[in-house]
Amino acid sequence: MSTAIEPTGYCFCGCGKKVGYGRLFAQGHDKMAEAAFIAVHHGGSVAQLLQEHGYGPDKSITAAAVEAGAWEKCPRCDYVGATNSIRNHMSRHHREQIAEATQAVRNFTEAFNKPIPRRTTEK
Ligand SMILES: [Zn+2]
Ligand SMILES: [Zn+2]
Repeated sequence: MSTAIEPTGYCFCGCGKKVGYGRLFAQGHDKMAEAAFIAVHHGGSVAQLLQEHGYGPDKSITAAAVEAGAWEKCPRCDYVGATNSIRNHMSRHHREQIAEATQAVRNFTEAFNKPIPRRTTEK
């Protein structure tokens, strides 16, 4: 497992920029550093990176992420991603379904809470 990284106050990509308290990277520099790393170590190819770590078409890296508990799987389709991505994905792709489900629950609750029509007691 990786050890926690202590922010030093300077961008971790090595550009020398000062960053805010508790931050590791200047805006966007984490992506830049990632791309540079892949360029240096894996010929700029994510496929090569995956293959070198034993992943590929036959061994899904995203499934491994879910298995490791680092990522989640959308409960409604095959989409996987970090918790935040899942939240965005759900609101973008399943909003209507969620609205429908919410409405169904509301209808049920309303039906359930409706006072039972009392039979007028005959005298
Ligand atoms: Zn930087
Ligand atoms: Zn989904």
